[in-house]
Amino acid sequence: MELLRNIPLARYTTWGVGGPADFFVEPANERELVEALNFAEEHGLEIFFIGSGSNLLVHDDGFRGMVVRMNLLNGISIDGTKVTVQAGVKLPRLARITVDMGLSGLEELAGIPGTVGGAIVQNAGAYGREIGELVNWIEIYGDAGVERYRSDALKFLYRKTILPSEGPILRVQLELKKGVVERIRSRMRELLIDRHRKQPRGRTAGSVFKNPKDAHPAGWLLDKAGVKRLKVGGAEYSRIHANFIVNLGDATASDIFRLIQIGKRRVLEQFGIELETEVVMMGDFDGPV
Ligand SMILES: Cc1cc2nc3c(=O)[nH]c(=O)nc-3n(C[C@H](O)[C@H](O)[C@H](O)COP(=O)(O)OP(=O)(O)OC[C@H]3O[C@@H](n4cnc5c(N)ncnc54)[C@H](O)[C@@H]3O)c2cc1C
Repeated sequence: MELLRNIPLARYTTWGVGGPADFFVEPANERELVEALNFAEEHGLEIFFIGSGSNLLVHDDGFRGMVVRMNLLNGISIDGTKVTVQAGVKLPRLARITVDMGLSGLEELAGIPGTVGGAIVQNAGAYGREIGELVNWIEIYGDAGVERYRSDALKFLYRKTILPSEGPILRVQLELKKGVVERIRSRMRELLIDRHRKQPRGRTAGSVFKNPKDAHPAGWLLDKAGVKRLKVGGAEYSRIHANFIVNLGDATASDIFRLIQIGKRRVLEQFGIELETEVVMMGDFDGPV
């Protein structure tokens, strides 16, 4: 296990912002992962697991603990309609592989640039499909070692999953359905084109806010609240979709955080609705930003 010190996290997030982690490790296998967890426990370090950092805002001061990046744990095994993957497998890759094999289920999620582990934590979804619907079981490395939980022990909510144990998600088994390759592939392509048409290019973290219940979508509310093109430093609310914040090149986490606060405040003032962020915050955003 190669334990690195003082590693800038900006390069590990799609927003491309964020300061250093005191300790950083990318385990190549589960044995190395356990070594890293043991090291953190011996030294009393707080741990933060990351995948592709595609739903993550890392503070400019970084993280005082150990960041464990799961992406090298990326094995895939397919038996009929049962697809078993390690947590670091990226959804677009998995969707492509399964679609080519005539397995249906992931075509709606093909454009989500995260890992399976991150997708489970966030119950990632698009076009009417959430990853939680496909899960047979997941494995987490918990106090008792590898713990397996069937889907009925998990609670998949909107962009959030209640997990029965802390610790990293190691492996997931998905149940897909047999289908006709050409039909599934063309649906996947259509949805990818639709996504490219509606979402901004560039450095983003996808939707910043969750859609509030029984109300207009967050993007609509933000648009009406006039945030489109609003800029702080090097970050801007997208002119294409108001629920996206784009790093124009030299944004800091603090610029993005300020925009988030402004968007929240404006929607609250105008509509009395309190938006909740979908993006996960890492680091001390309660202190000075
Ligand atoms: C252009 C773009 C489009 C997007 N579109 C969508 C969309 O349509 N639908 C959608 O739902 N999301 C979307 N997202 C957001 C994001 O891609 C998803 O939430 C994705 O599932 C996050 O995965 P990740 O590996 O990047 O997780 P990260 O951002 O690295 O982490 C997210 C959370 O998961 C936890 N985590 C990650 N891996 C593990 C693990 N192995 N064990 C335990 N915890 C873990 C982290 O601690 C953190 O809390 C989009 C993002 C971008 C940039």
